Amino acid sequence: MNIPEIFGCNVFDDSAMKSRLSRGVYEAMKRTIEDGRSLDLGIANEVAEAMKDWAVERGATHFTHWFQPMTGVTAEKHESFISPSANGKIIMEFSGRELVRGESDASSFPSGGLRATFEARGYTAWDPTSYAFIKDDTLYIPTAFCSYGGEALDKKTPLLRSMEALNRQCMRILRLFGDSSVTSVRPTVGAEQEYFLIDADLYAKRPDLIFTGRTLFGAKPPKGAELDDHYYGTIKPRVQAFMKDLDEELWKLGILAKTEHNEAAPAQHELAPVFIVANTATDQNQLTMEMMRKVARRHGLECLLHEKPFQGVSGSGKHNNWSINAVSGENLLKPGKTPRDNARFLLFLVAVVKAVDEYQDLLRLSAASAGNDHRLGKNEAPPAIVSIFLGDELTAILDSIESRSEYSAAAEEPLRLGVHVLPKLPRDTTDRNRTSPFAFTGNKFEFRMVGSSESLACTNIMLNTAVADALCSFADELEKAAPEDFNGALDALIRRTYSEHKRIIFNGNGYNEAWIAEAERRGLLNLASTPDAVVRMTDRKNLDLFARHKVYSEAEARSRRDIILDHYCKILNIEAQTMVYMTRRQYLPAVWKYEGELASSVNAKQAGAVPLPCRGQEQVLAKLSRLADTASSRCDRLEARLGKLRADSSGPDVRAFRFKDEIIPAMEALREAVDAAETVMPLDAWPVPDYGALLFCTK
Ligand code: ADP
Ligand code: MG
Repeated sequence: MNIPEIFGCNVFDDSAMKSRLSRGVYEAMKRTIEDGRSLDLGIANEVAEAMKDWAVERGATHFTHWFQPMTGVTAEKHESFISPSANGKIIMEFSGRELVRGESDASSFPSGGLRATFEARGYTAWDPTSYAFIKDDTLYIPTAFCSYGGEALDKKTPLLRSMEALNRQCMRILRLFGDSSVTSVRPTVGAEQEYFLIDADLYAKRPDLIFTGRTLFGAKPPKGAELDDHYYGTIKPRVQAFMKDLDEELWKLGILAKTEHNEAAPAQHELAPVFIVANTATDQNQLTMEMMRKVARRHGLECLLHEKPFQGVSGSGKHNNWSINAVSGENLLKPGKTPRDNARFLLFLVAVVKAVDEYQDLLRLSAASAGNDHRLGKNEAPPAIVSIFLGDELTAILDSIESRSEYSAAAEEPLRLGVHVLPKLPRDTTDRNRTSPFAFTGNKFEFRMVGSSESLACTNIMLNTAVADALCSFADELEKAAPEDFNGALDALIRRTYSEHKRIIFNGNGYNEAWIAEAERRGLLNLASTPDAVVRMTDRKNLDLFARHKVYSEAEARSRRDIILDHYCKILNIEAQTMVYMTRRQYLPAVWKYEGELASSVNAKQAGAVPLPCRGQEQVLAKLSRLADTASSRCDRLEARLGKLRADSSGPDVRAFRFKDEIIPAMEALREAVDAAETVMPLDAWPVPDYGALLFCTK
């Protein structure tokens, strides 16, 4: 395999554009991609023509605008390139207009009340900054998706808006530091993706996995992850073959798949790509998840992307590594070598500190989902409390700036920014802290709350916007200072910001019980569940933030809140219904059948001339009878609660809390009874594969 040759071979990327477009058009495209300039239709026509020729040469017959509606998955509508020609034949055609804008019937996508159902039209608009690519003989064009009135109906539109907001404010700051060469600034993202692989035949026997992506029942197997023998362990041949195949598919799509290893839980793995601009990283992460599923099936495996596929076993997340890069490649969150660079670094750093403190709720809700509620705060993922890990050294530096005291032996007098060189900051300041939701790792922040199946968009929208806001207030203040007072103003601003927001910094163990009390004392938010977090989306301060930076209109923010809450209710409804289905149609019949066998065996033993001992069988029989009755009545109760909720026409916020407070406890109670029965049933009489088979049987 010639990797450099296959890398990006299915992507209409920079090199394809360079060789296929005229010089003027190529340069116009480049300006659009790098600096967000708009493209005129003449140029779009030439790009479309070149794109089509390139795609048809590679076997493509169709094109599709590819977008990310609020369903959580991607959407596409394929159209062929054919167009009738005069002689009764056809030609392959693709116009600039078709490239730039598409129309699709959007009535079935969630809009959270933004569109009345009869207004079926939605529009897709090309995002020229994310390359088009070929998959399944189709040219995919990454697009944004909005309503007739221009309201965002997708995840890409607000992400692009938030990137623009961040760019605007970063440029103001860079100009203040006298930098006139940088033309634009963009957030970069590298997303580590965790997933499980299980045998496809076993998967097919579990309705819960099929309908909900996670096991809703399942007793603990004799072995878990206690031996730590899976983490970074030797990769099994079948998994190895999957990873090789996956890498190849991703490389063809221009995705920089880099690191693959076994994760902590049995059957759990991770893939990390090299970082890239945030919107492309978001698109590519969606493609990566899709490819993982597809490639797994080729290997007789099923890829589980759910946050918590197995109770009692660590679930899966997605680490959103985030930084701010000038288009020239300079990382603004990298400690510098000169006093001025260091001051700039510290200013960006405290901007992030302020942003995360002021908008803890938005970051928390960006990772809120029914699936992720099983992980956060359960000692396998960060707590539901947002805090920042800076490491001891950086914290000590900021402390010394705040208190105007000496920092270690390196500085002879109190640190003053822009005057003194900070001590060299090593890339990894301190030991890894895996328990922090938001850790500084030398030149980037790693947000570790995101769930494995979620889009990266929301997290990056919130991060970009909140940091843009902090930088905006900094620029407002610093622009007022006279040039000769700049260093003093900067020094004061950093000191004050750190002092006001340092409560968000926590370098200790986030899994520790004591942290919860400490966080409360500091006044930090602890939003334990999805409804608790998501209702905050429309708090006045948040609506104002979105409006200030034109990321969401108030109507858009409200609709999004409702869509997320409604989605949460739907997920729980499907899970609860699946539990009822499995209990009534698989578990109870299996238990009753076995009870029958036990009872006849007991009868037979006792009917003989000399009755045989059967105490063991009687005990199991009694236990199973009791558990089956309990399961049956708990199943009735769950069904009754579901029925009542179905008839409830309250808004999505009220319903979401009812699902959390009434349905989840009823689900847990039912599971408990069924799992207890599983532990005394014969393996071959249990209707579905158990945890042992699912987790340990892949060769
Ligand atoms: P670890 O988290 O184990 O230290 P790495 O340092 O290799 O691993 O980085 C993890 C992820 O962070 C990778 O996807 C990497 O590309 C990404 N990353 C590195 N630098 C940046 C950056 N400046 N911006 C965004 N992501 C980055
Ligand atoms: Mg990491």
